[in-house]
Amino acid sequence: MIRVDIISIVPELLESPLNHSIVQRAKKSGLAEIFVHDLREYGKGSYRQVDDYCFGGDAGMVMMIEPVYKLISNLKSERDYDEIIYMSPDGERFSQKIANELSCMHNIIILCGHFKGIDHRIREHLITREISIGDYVLSGGEIPAAVVCDAMIRLIPGAISDETSALSDSFQDDLIAPPVYTRPSVFNGWKVPDVLISGNPKLIKEWQEQKSIERTKLLRPELFKDED
Ligand code: SAH
Repeated sequence: MIRVDIISIVPELLESPLNHSIVQRAKKSGLAEIFVHDLREYGKGSYRQVDDYCFGGDAGMVMMIEPVYKLISNLKSERDYDEIIYMSPDGERFSQKIANELSCMHNIIILCGHFKGIDHRIREHLITREISIGDYVLSGGEIPAAVVCDAMIRLIPGAISDETSALSDSFQDDLIAPPVYTRPSVFNGWKVPDVLISGNPKLIKEWQEQKSIERTKLLRPELFKDED
């Protein structure tokens, strides 16, 4: 069971991605719990202020330290956290390897930033890990947080009905997944490879392995490690 506490100022952005499909099923079967905390509830004054002007006179707002500190302290007083993650474009690049690592943890906090980012002291003193989903800038950390949750939760054993299917995904093995097909076996004269309808599991497995290697060499040669 993994517990994820997500801190956001736009919790609505997380509703749909975390309440459908595999993530929803994992929650229903007790494999994952996700709590989305509205940071504004910890905001300052009657306006529930969570952001303020940037010191130094730069344009744009910065998320304030107090509300984040209060919320994280509250959460930490109730349980120990394995990681307190800040979603950030300059963080370590998210990968299947990190998703695997996170899926084995028990308690994680994910902080979603907005505006120009968060007061740097949060990063220095409260955050244990910073993750980016790629070299581009989004307006908030919610979509990145949803990406991390989805990738991580589908890896928890039992989250996908056929457990082996997550293991044969692309990148699990530094290999790209083989092509997949479904019925009809012929459409418009376009045929599914004969071997897949041969009924011979050994030949099918060999074909899949060979295609995985071919496609990895073709599409992502830098991933390919020749083990012979
Ligand atoms: N001024 C910042 C970007 C702020 S974008 C900079 O140049 O680095 C606002 C928020 O969106 C960030 O605080 C972060 O939480 C989130 N965010 C934007 N792009 C992201 C990415 N590629 N990966 C993870 N989080 C991202």
